[in-house]
Amino acid sequence: MKLRTKIHTYTTALMLLMLVCTDLAVYYVYEKMTYDREASHVIKRGEDLITLLQGTDSREEATEMLRAYVPADGAVSIVQQGKKSLKVQTTSDLEGFKPTFEHGASYAINRADDKPFMSTNTPFIWKNGDIAELHISQSLEETERNLYMLRLVLTIVTVLAMLPILLSNMALSRVITQPIERLIATMRRNKRSGEFETIPLASKGKDELSEMGRTFNGMIGQIEENYRKQEQFLSNASHELRTPLTIIESYASLLKRRGTSNADITKEAVEAIASESKRMKAMMEQMLALAKNTEQAVVFNRVNIKSMLEEMAEQLTQVYGERYVVQAETSICVTDEAKLKQLLFIFLDNARRYSDDVIELTARCESQYVHIMVRDYGEGIPKEMLARVFERFYRVSEDRNRQSGGTGLGLAIAKELAERLHAKIDIDSTVGQGTTLHCYVPYEREGFDA
Ligand code: ADP
Repeated sequence: MKLRTKIHTYTTALMLLMLVCTDLAVYYVYEKMTYDREASHVIKRGEDLITLLQGTDSREEATEMLRAYVPADGAVSIVQQGKKSLKVQTTSDLEGFKPTFEHGASYAINRADDKPFMSTNTPFIWKNGDIAELHISQSLEETERNLYMLRLVLTIVTVLAMLPILLSNMALSRVITQPIERLIATMRRNKRSGEFETIPLASKGKDELSEMGRTFNGMIGQIEENYRKQEQFLSNASHELRTPLTIIESYASLLKRRGTSNADITKEAVEAIASESKRMKAMMEQMLALAKNTEQAVVFNRVNIKSMLEEMAEQLTQVYGERYVVQAETSICVTDEAKLKQLLFIFLDNARRYSDDVIELTARCESQYVHIMVRDYGEGIPKEMLARVFERFYRVSEDRNRQSGGTGLGLAIAKELAERLHAKIDIDSTVGQGTTLHCYVPYEREGFDA
């Protein structure tokens, strides 16, 4: 069953059930109240009559009293020793009628000649001390007619009330299911066409269905962005790998054609093949690092930035010599130490590859973050190219990179790492004077309002 039909059926059935239950409750309460009221009238009539009967010992007088008190459509009788001693009736329907009383009930409702009668039975003592019972039966035809009218009115009202209920349920199920149906249709179209179509959102509603539409559109946007990024990355990667592969291939063919007899050519070919393979390997590693960065969870811990920088400088000094100068203020940040180190190693590696002089590693405590700077006194980057150095595979100069073994991926990785750490990175540089890479690490894991 479709969701729309389900909602419609269930809500209609529920409302019908509620209406019927209300009708039944109203009807039975009204019926009980009416019978009780009638019964109290009859009982009161009997009590008045008994008071009068107890003041007489004449049979004629008693019969007169019964006549005065007999209901318009009913009977009054006095039963003594199990037999009717006196009886007055105003209807022929009660001939031979014997009401049956339920145990403890003050009145009984029975049918005589298919007509309803209410009967009461009150014992009393005659003036001479004899015990008798006063039976009064009164027709309930009028009451039954009223109850029948009530049943009719309730039924008509229920049927009439069902019409707007049906219409409103149809509208309700439409309101709920229309956005879902639109969403399903869009998803199907997306699946068929491979497009990233979003659903039109008419209003800025705050309900769950509008929220669902907005979430879907947001998700589609994100999937599309990731898809485009991936496409871009793949085309960049294949383009970047083509150059070293072409170089390797052409040198290998040269060796195949000319053999290894010419020592100079052989040396040049082997060196080129070795260096291009190394470059490809570095590129593959960085590409993997980029992919992994988005996979690995960030683990936040309290990190002593000063000790971390000093430790990094010490490690690099052992490998590359006395080039690193650390000037750091003491500070503690809640961050992922491994990822922050990975980011700073990229900065330090660039500084080492693109300069020959000292590399300064500074940390300054600002109000919301620790400002880490990696400064080199190398060749620098032209102003117009600065904005693009964080793009994947972007290189300032192909020649410079071939010498330094760069892949154009380092700063792109650094940018992604910074985003995951809620940190910010920046670069400034002057050609011929050097470059400074900045990293702003927030004290708390939530980031900062820079
Ligand atoms: P790569 O692996 O090629 O160095 P990066 O993404 O790390 O890739 O850097 C992008 C470009 O920015 C490189 O082409 C490089 O020329 C330039 N660059 C990065 N850092 C420096 C620096 N400290 N000094 C000079 N140029 C730099």
